[in-house]
Amino acid sequence: MPHPPDAEARRAVRPVICYPVESLPQPDMAALERMRADDMTPIRRLEIAPRDAAVFSVEAGQFFRIVSVEGPQVGDLNLWNAHDLGERFYSGKTRALHGTHLSTGDRMWSGFPYLRPMATITRDTLDWYGIDPYGGSVHDVIGTRCDPYTHDLLSGGAAYHSCCHSNLSRALAGHLGVSASAAETYVHDVLNVFMCTGFTRDTGQYFMKASPVRPGDYLEFFAEIDLLGALSACPGGDCSAEHSSDAAACHPLVVEIFAADPVARSNWREPAVRGYDRSHGM
Ligand SMILES: [Zn+2]
Repeated sequence: MPHPPDAEARRAVRPVICYPVESLPQPDMAALERMRADDMTPIRRLEIAPRDAAVFSVEAGQFFRIVSVEGPQVGDLNLWNAHDLGERFYSGKTRALHGTHLSTGDRMWSGFPYLRPMATITRDTLDWYGIDPYGGSVHDVIGTRCDPYTHDLLSGGAAYHSCCHSNLSRALAGHLGVSASAAETYVHDVLNVFMCTGFTRDTGQYFMKASPVRPGDYLEFFAEIDLLGALSACPGGDCSAEHSSDAAACHPLVVEIFAADPVARSNWREPAVRGYDRSHGM
């Protein structure tokens, strides 16, 4: 199409932030620091095998970490309210509130009609990475999760069963005692833990590059409500080349769960769901 005469002027309009952080209630990081037990020794530890997923439970007020062990590996994280699987992590609104990648002080928000923090990030050993010259950063909420349907679409009908969507579906199915096809309706867009991603500046395409994570790195969360979590060790490994195949070198991931300080825990209250009356103008 021909450019209008004022094309450059229209492009030059300054952007405004959709959701200014000044209006977003901030987590009380000092209170969360007091919630930490003196002895941060895990009370439970779970290893997730490469190209597979596992389910874990965390009580409100506890902390959990996703830890890199053995080698660079990306993890796809789903969270649900442990008592109501209808309340689950909302990647899109979390992105709108906090930006494309999460780090310390950011929160994982649940979807409508709940919209409350499910978990708050309290430690990130990769927070030094920032935004690289390609526009890439770590722990994104811009990707989805690798899945067999998109693989079928792009490969002309090939089946691959170890995509994160399938791994999460199998793990949840085993936990709930239902079929994988029933469980997959609860699986949702993830927090891509340790994954390094961005959008190309020239074409706007989603890209990934080798994760900077190394064994010993971890991302730590405070559970704001009783949580059921599921974590997949992505078949893409460090996601430097491809996923949806057995080609990449893959490593396990570890989930560690920590008790809170009992005194601080007794003074703490979990966040309420939003107060909107759900009448929607009717
Ligand atoms: Zn994946």
